Amino acid sequence: MVNQNETDLNVHKEIEELKMLIRDVPDFPKPGIVFKDITPLLHKPWALQKVVDFIGNRYIGAGVDIVAGIESRGFILASALAYKIGAGLAIIRKPGKLPYRTISATYTLEYGKDSIEVHEDAIREGMKVVIVDDVLATGGTMGAAIDLVEKLSGNIINIDFLLELTFLEGRKRIEERGYPVFSLIKF
Ligand code: AMP
Repeated sequence: MVNQNETDLNVHKEIEELKMLIRDVPDFPKPGIVFKDITPLLHKPWALQKVVDFIGNRYIGAGVDIVAGIESRGFILASALAYKIGAGLAIIRKPGKLPYRTISATYTLEYGKDSIEVHEDAIREGMKVVIVDDVLATGGTMGAAIDLVEKLSGNIINIDFLLELTFLEGRKRIEERGYPVFSLIKF
């Protein structure tokens, strides 16, 4: 029988293996930014499966109605996760991309502002929602995604990321709003 400590060790090892598949691309998309490229991880069948299993197994029996993914890399994880846990998928997009009636939320960037949108019928009152994105940096994007789900009166049960840049402390901004944050890989 495998004891709890061994299980923890194995999980830790697997997460370290996943972490090694994240590629740093310096000065992308602009000088000074180290871009966390998740494509080497996505290229490996076992790695993509592991990520979706690690994130999704936590929701077995939780009755999640909708996984909301943020454009564009959030979509990759959100749709796989929605499939795994038997939930619907809501897509949160950049302005002007969604064809039907939308609501929008604005957030502050380093220089200027940006906004994201969702269809007004994507989430109904009281639905259990998990919001997913690839990277938690400052938390600004996720903050706006939370605004959207709150406007539609969704019941946010968790906020999930593939990876978190802990030094930017985006987690605080989300936890201050009362929502639990999960990130599989931490830098
Ligand atoms: P933020 O709003 O600062 O938390 O930034 C999060 C969004 O920007 C996510 O949708 C990420 O995909 C993207 N992002 C921010 N910083 C990085 C980074 N260093 N590497 C890859 N993506 C990033």
